[in-house]
Amino acid sequence: MESPWEVVNVELKVAEETVLVEVESAARRLPCPTCGEPSPIYDSSTRRWRHLDTCQFQTILSTEVPRVKCLEHGVKRVQVPWADRRSKFTAMFEQLVLRWLEVACISAVAELFGLSWGTVDGIQKRAVQRGIKRRSYEEGRRLPERIGIDEKSFKKGHDYVTVICDQTGGNVVHVADGRKAEVVEDYLKSFDEKERASVRTVAMDMWQGYISAVTTWIPDAEKKICFDKFHVAQHLGKAVDQVRRAENKKLRAEGNDALKGTRYHWLGNSTELSRERLAELAGLTKVAKRTGRAWVLKEIGMDAWRYKSRGWARKALTKWYESAIRCRMEPVKKVARTIKKHMEGIINAIYHGVTNARSESINSRIQWIKYTARGFRNRERFRNAIYFHLGGLDMTPEALKPIGFHTS
Ligand SMILES: [Zn+2]
Repeated sequence: MESPWEVVNVELKVAEETVLVEVESAARRLPCPTCGEPSPIYDSSTRRWRHLDTCQFQTILSTEVPRVKCLEHGVKRVQVPWADRRSKFTAMFEQLVLRWLEVACISAVAELFGLSWGTVDGIQKRAVQRGIKRRSYEEGRRLPERIGIDEKSFKKGHDYVTVICDQTGGNVVHVADGRKAEVVEDYLKSFDEKERASVRTVAMDMWQGYISAVTTWIPDAEKKICFDKFHVAQHLGKAVDQVRRAENKKLRAEGNDALKGTRYHWLGNSTELSRERLAELAGLTKVAKRTGRAWVLKEIGMDAWRYKSRGWARKALTKWYESAIRCRMEPVKKVARTIKKHMEGIINAIYHGVTNARSESINSRIQWIKYTARGFRNRERFRNAIYFHLGGLDMTPEALKPIGFHTS
């Protein structure tokens, strides 16, 4: 405790497993919370905060918090230095809860500290609000040079949010409701023209809504839109899976279940597969010929990423398209047509070396968030959790920040 606050009594309540710490201020005047002007005490009332446990005992801080009468601002409750405004916890306690929330879900943290789910949710929500507020105060809100746009589903795939990330820093910078073109437009047009012109790449899926939003608001968008490897691979992987499912049905009708349970065998990138798995796939392609062909087409298509120049990448993709469109597997042909239509954007991605590492790591962390929350019922909670885990925000409680950085 710093002057004028001091601990005047510590009481050990064994039966209640509680330590009660009483704090008092002897000052006759305290600063007005609005202007900082030392003002006379007007009245006071008892308030309590939960602090870090003492051994296994819950520790409660209790004090008479005065209200001061400022000549300019009237009667105001003073700001105590150990807790944020409106919080029932000391800043050190809140910080500990936030640390735990980084690695565990809300219900686990609630159980650990003997708090309700809603209380822990509230601590997380306030932390995110603090972080977003600080980001705009201290650094200014800015448009990243390399943007990634993606949609994420929740509520068992019935609802969506659009996630915009900074591909350089790897942080999520914006989470918007739904996946319509307008949500991307609203975000982009909140920046001035100069800033929009400074965007160098926009990585996204081959989806018309996002494409038209970016084309409208980013100058020279046709050179900057990148359909990254991650999304192209996702489309091709889906096509392989559709072919596999159809063939599996056919084979099982003939009493052959060689393809059963092999869904994930075909999704990975061949360059990352083990020798054993590759041998297994080679064996499978002898029985499941169509799935094998679809898989080989996917692998050849992804090979275009080996090139560095626009010319070579275009040549490789065009050649790939010509064989894919003749393959007599409708799911693969459908992706081939999509790839042809969006070829320049794919070439942009290859040329700019837009890597999918960031999108993939953000993607897998959002999967983790969804998994640990056992499905979000509400969009706001999902959005909060994304900001909390991926926003790169400074969410330290105000009371732990050096004076002069307070934003509330
Ligand atoms: Zn004042």
